[in-house]
Amino acid sequence: GWVVVNGDFVPASEACISPFDRGFLFADAIYEVTTVVSSTLIDFDPHLARLRRSARAIGLALPWEDHDLQTLHKDLVSRNQLDEGYVYLQVSRGAGLRDFAIDEHMTPTLFMFSQARSVMQTSDAQNGIKVITVPETRWAHRDIKTAALLPASLAKQKAKQAGAQDAWFVEDGRITEGSSNNAFIVTKQREILTRDLGQHVLPGITRAAIIRLAEEQGYQVIERGFTVIEAESATEAFFTSATAFAIPVVEINGHQLSSGKPGPVFQAIRAAYLDHVRSQIP
Ligand code: PLP
Repeated sequence: GWVVVNGDFVPASEACISPFDRGFLFADAIYEVTTVVSSTLIDFDPHLARLRRSARAIGLALPWEDHDLQTLHKDLVSRNQLDEGYVYLQVSRGAGLRDFAIDEHMTPTLFMFSQARSVMQTSDAQNGIKVITVPETRWAHRDIKTAALLPASLAKQKAKQAGAQDAWFVEDGRITEGSSNNAFIVTKQREILTRDLGQHVLPGITRAAIIRLAEEQGYQVIERGFTVIEAESATEAFFTSATAFAIPVVEINGHQLSSGKPGPVFQAIRAAYLDHVRSQIP
């Protein structure tokens, strides 16, 4: 398929980025993943706003207008004839001599690709997944969406080795978030809990939409950290991300939740989110 390198469309096999790029040497890069359904970008504007926020947070000046980035996304979707899947965008600081101190005159590198993938209907959404909890090992600025994903990747690998599908990070006894998603539980009182925003979690675009949709459905959503014991004894649990939407969690550290099946609160919320996605398709 086609990819974008610095604003140009090139076949993936011909894409070329310098090995001296700071994205490669220092993971000095930020990224966004926007879901595509029926060839339509879902919630593009908040993803773009978060990209600008991440750029500001690491002192990177983005030399592209919103409109240019949106056009590149749309053109990539149409060139790759992408019906369902996602567009990945990464901006790294650029290439230069390896130096911890940053040369502020570097030209950022833009790289984009698309990937076909089912998102509306998946077996994980149908059946739910198992989660283990692991100590928080990432850096202190989890609110910035950077490409430094090794701790998250190792945590996911640990989950896989334990026969689970994802790991939820724990810091000071409370869940922060999943390896690549925001974590939610439902209490016996049918309150929905998810970690409050701050440096400790990524402000998920899907998280924000789900909170709004849940409140519209009459659920009380409380943004606070919850403990591992609260999670293990929750009535239901689920996680959210742009490409997964909402996925039920039916087992945490071997403790079965909602009889091992997706629960009613989750199902109501996923249905509302699917409507939210469909409402954006022309
Ligand atoms: N938390 C982390 C660590 C993530 O990597 C992601 C992104 O996939 C999310 C949360 C969910 O964010 P979003 O809903 O914007 O995809």
